[in-house]
Amino acid sequence: MYIAMVASECAPMAKVGGLADVVHGLSRELLRRNQAVEVILPMYDCMRYERIFGLEKCYADLWVPYYDQWIRCDVFRGVADDIPCIFIKPLSKDNFFDRGIFYGHQDDAARFAFFSRAAMEFMYKSGRRPDIIHCHDWQTGLLPVLLYEIYQSLGMGNSRVCYTLHNVHHQGVTGPQILRQSGLGTHLMTPEKLRDNTHVGAVNLMKAGIVYSNFVTTVSPRYAEEIRYTALGHGLQSTLDTHAGKFGGVLNGVDYGTWNPEVDGHIPYRYGVDDFSGKFRNKAALRQRLLLQDKFKPIVAVVSRLDQQKGVQLISHSVFHALANRAQFVLLGSGAEKAINDHFWGLKHSLNDNPDCHLEIGYDEELSHLYYAGADMLVIPSAFEPCGLTQIIAMKYGTVPVVRATGGLADTVFDANYGDKPHEERTGFTFKDFNEAGLESALGRAIGLWYRFPRYFHQLRLNGMRQDYSWNQSGGHYMNIFNHIRA
Ligand code: ADP
Repeated sequence: MYIAMVASECAPMAKVGGLADVVHGLSRELLRRNQAVEVILPMYDCMRYERIFGLEKCYADLWVPYYDQWIRCDVFRGVADDIPCIFIKPLSKDNFFDRGIFYGHQDDAARFAFFSRAAMEFMYKSGRRPDIIHCHDWQTGLLPVLLYEIYQSLGMGNSRVCYTLHNVHHQGVTGPQILRQSGLGTHLMTPEKLRDNTHVGAVNLMKAGIVYSNFVTTVSPRYAEEIRYTALGHGLQSTLDTHAGKFGGVLNGVDYGTWNPEVDGHIPYRYGVDDFSGKFRNKAALRQRLLLQDKFKPIVAVVSRLDQQKGVQLISHSVFHALANRAQFVLLGSGAEKAINDHFWGLKHSLNDNPDCHLEIGYDEELSHLYYAGADMLVIPSAFEPCGLTQIIAMKYGTVPVVRATGGLADTVFDANYGDKPHEERTGFTFKDFNEAGLESALGRAIGLWYRFPRYFHQLRLNGMRQDYSWNQSGGHYMNIFNHIRA
C-alpha cells in the first residue's frame, strides 16, 4: 500500500508537540510493516536541516493555484530517521514557511490551506496515486475536500483519506475567502459541509476534514467520547455525531526506537527493567546539569508546552507543593503566549537561589531525554489531553506519572491506590478535580510513597516500564482502518 502522510509537523526536523511524534512514529511503524510511506511537509526555514539526509530538489516549477494566480513551488525530498519525506517550498513574496516559527501568524489558515492544495497538486502532477492519504489536524483538513471536489475527477479516484484529530481545541476557523483561495466554490458553505457550527459566516477546516474523509480517528478512546459528548468537542459534537459511523479513537503509540532508556543516545547512562542502576546515575547527571544539590529527595519534573491546556496554574502550584514536601522540582517548558512565559520567567527568578529547583524555559529536545531519565515523577495536570505522550514516555523511563484523569491520560495511567486494575497494571497517580486540592492529593501521595514505601514506589516504576505503548498495536489498528476504507 502507498500511504502519503500529509502533516504540518514531523519529528525530528519539524516538531512543536505530540503531532510531530505521532507522524514520525506511525510512519516508521508502517514502514516496518513493509508499506510504502512518504511524509509530505511544508519546507519551513526553521526546520532542523541537520536531521534530514540526502536533501535534493525532486520537482521544479510546481505551479499551485492561489486566488486568481499561481504560485511557483520547488519540491524537495530527503530522508529523516529512515522516513522518506517530501518538502514543499513556495517561491512567493508571501514567504508562507519562512517565518522563523511554525505557527502563530495571522494568516495561518491561508498558509496551511495553500500547503494542502500544493500537496494535492504535487501528488497529482508527479503521478503519485496514494492508496491512502493520511491527514492530521486542521492544517490539512481541506485536503480531502480538494481531493473529492477537484482531483478525483482528474484521475485520483482511488485514493482514500484517513483524518486524525490531534487536538479539537484548534479547528482552523477562518473566513470564506479560503474557498476562493483554494479553488473551491462557495456552495460548500452549508451546515452539512464546511460552515462552522457556531460562526455561520466562517469556514471550519477541521469540520471539512471530518465531513469529507473516509475515516476519522482521534488519538485516544476517552478523548473520542469526550469530544463527541461533552463541551470538549468545542462545537463539533453534532458533526461527530452525524459521522459517528466512521469515527473512532486509536491510542497513540510511542516510538521505542527514540524513547527507550535501553538504547537512548541522548542520556549518559542506559538502563532497563533488569539493570536499573543507570536510572540513579542519570538522576545525578540531571542534578549536575541543572545545578541542584545532591540530597536524598525525589525529583518531580514537568516537560510541557506551557499553555492553558496543560494547566499552567497547576504546574506553578506543583513547584511550591513539591518544594514544601521535601522534593526537588525541575521544569522544561516553552510557551507561545507572552503572559505565560513572563509568569514562568518571574517564577524562575524568584526561585533562582533555591538549590532544589530549576526551571528551564525553552524547547530542548535532547535535554528532555535527560529529564525523563533523571526524574522520579512527572506531573501532567492538563485541563484536557487528547492523548498525551509525556506520561507514556515517562513510564518507559521508570518515571512515575502524576496526572489529571482526562482524555488519553485516563486511558494510560492507572492509580496506585484507587481503581480496579490489578497491581501489576498500576502505574502512577491520578486526580479528577482540576484544582490545587486535586493536584496536591495525587502529588502528595506520590512523594509520600517515595519516602515511606520505596519498594512499592519502585514496583510502580517497573510496572510502567513493562507496559507496551509501542506503535505495534496502534499501527495494526491503522492498517485495519486503511484496509477497511480501501475495500
Ligand atoms: P502536546 O502535543 O499537546 O504538546 P504531547 O504530550 O502529546 O503534548 O507531546 C509533547 C511532546 O513534546 C513530547 O515529545 C515532549 O517530550 C515534547 N516537549 C514538550 N515540551 C517540550 C520542551 N519544552 N522541550 C522539549 N520537548 C518538549
